[in-house]
Amino acid sequence: MTQSRPSFDAVAFAAALGGIPCETDPTLVRQKSRDFYWYSPVLKKQLDDAIADIVVMPRHEEDVVEVVRHCVAARVPLTPRGGGTGNYGQAMPLAGGVVLDLTALNSIQSITNGVLRVGAGAKLSDIEVRCRPLGWELRMFPSTRRTATIGGFVAGGTGGIGSINFGQLRDPGTLVGARVLTMEAEPKVLELHGAEVNCVHHAYGTNGIITELSIAMAPTQIWVDYVVSFTDFMALARFCDAVARADGIAKRMVSAVDGEAAAYFRPLEEELEPGDSVGLFLIAEQSVAPFEEMLRAHGGTVSRCERETEIEARGLVPAFEFTWNHCTLQALKVDKGITYLQSRLPAHGYLDTVAELIANFGKEVPMHLEFIRADGEVACIGLPLVRYSTEPRLRAIIAAFEAHGVTVDPHSYMLEDDGTKETDPDQVAFKRRVDPHGLLNPGKMRGAEAPPAAA
Ligand SMILES: Cc1cc2nc3c(=O)[nH]c(=O)nc-3n(C[C@H](O)[C@H](O)[C@H](O)COP(=O)(O)OP(=O)(O)OC[C@H]3O[C@@H](n4cnc5c(N)ncnc54)[C@H](O)[C@@H]3O)c2cc1C
Repeated sequence: MTQSRPSFDAVAFAAALGGIPCETDPTLVRQKSRDFYWYSPVLKKQLDDAIADIVVMPRHEEDVVEVVRHCVAARVPLTPRGGGTGNYGQAMPLAGGVVLDLTALNSIQSITNGVLRVGAGAKLSDIEVRCRPLGWELRMFPSTRRTATIGGFVAGGTGGIGSINFGQLRDPGTLVGARVLTMEAEPKVLELHGAEVNCVHHAYGTNGIITELSIAMAPTQIWVDYVVSFTDFMALARFCDAVARADGIAKRMVSAVDGEAAAYFRPLEEELEPGDSVGLFLIAEQSVAPFEEMLRAHGGTVSRCERETEIEARGLVPAFEFTWNHCTLQALKVDKGITYLQSRLPAHGYLDTVAELIANFGKEVPMHLEFIRADGEVACIGLPLVRYSTEPRLRAIIAAFEAHGVTVDPHSYMLEDDGTKETDPDQVAFKRRVDPHGLLNPGKMRGAEAPPAAA
């Protein structure tokens, strides 16, 4: 599915950049042209050949401006990159050219009134380590906190641990500002504020290079990392739903994993009984007693319970690294035949839908749920594993989910296929403004491939 491209002299291009660090070694360039696309057997087939011609590693924003000037002058495509942990081939250069590794733009600049100003390449884990002693932590982070960057999270992600309190990144209030470079012969610096940031949020770096971000933070709490067990998955799902709705219980993460999927959690082997369904939580220390009282009332037991700091100090795998797409990763470490679905359950009656899907698919699609807040209500994201057989069978499972009112990402690298199936007109208009030659991560935004509609 990669696009044909004219020949490109990477060595000459690097020389013209006048000392900006570059990598042309084919093995290293290939490594930096990958993300976690291979979770999907469909994308694996389509994207295996996607490879850049060169990786450029700007040291600061002035370097980024220089790289953009050269790319636009020579009409070379450019794909921004943070930690490279995205799914769906978001960070994979379909048309070759430059992969722009932004990880050196990692300055953690200031926190004012709970708003962090930070370089786009800062690692999420570094942000937490630096900000916690100041009394602040991220409102939400993906389960790839150890390796992902804040720029990659904003440009490629949606939400994660913390979304049970603050909704998703696109909801008003968390993304406060972004500094964005345009892909023009003479790049402009745009400062986006408030809702404007959504133009570049979850746009896969197709419509601007983010160099800095302003993010609203949350006050820190002492978090207790819980792994709990239930013999019945639906009893666990009802418990998670109850905890999610219990406004007096301070929490950061509510996740439910069916026993078939939890059987792949090798690092928890000693804590779990075979076949147990597993709940994963981060609960504020002040809420531990009422949480455990609710757990007993729902028939669950505690399998592991430690302060998060203790988990880190003892080098244990934290509970959040079994949630979101880490559940798939844990399974893939054991069974290469696994893939997953990323789905959004209907707003109302989602537990009934979950029970129906389990009844229909059983062990072929082991269930995994993440609970979040959406528009002031508790909502449920399904990331079930799939024991993959063929692409037509995968499509049939997706169609059956959709028939139950579940929106599913259908294993596509196209932005518009990501659950919503719609082009965001603001993002397309923004792309036309900031990337007039269509050089930023080309081939990912369907709406921008078509000519502009007549006025
Ligand atoms: C095991 C696993 C678990 C995951 N869990 C979650 C989760 O809980 N929640 C979630 O939302 N996602 C999740 N993801 C997806 C991904 O890890 C996150 O979205 C992550 O934040 C991406 O950050 P990154 O730095 O690795 O970005 P990359 O993968 O490097 O980039 C992601 C996208 O952003 C673009 N980009 C990167 N930096 C910039 C920039 N400075 N300017 C413009 N565009 C840029 C890239 O071109 C690409 O399209 C998961 C993925 C895996 C493999």
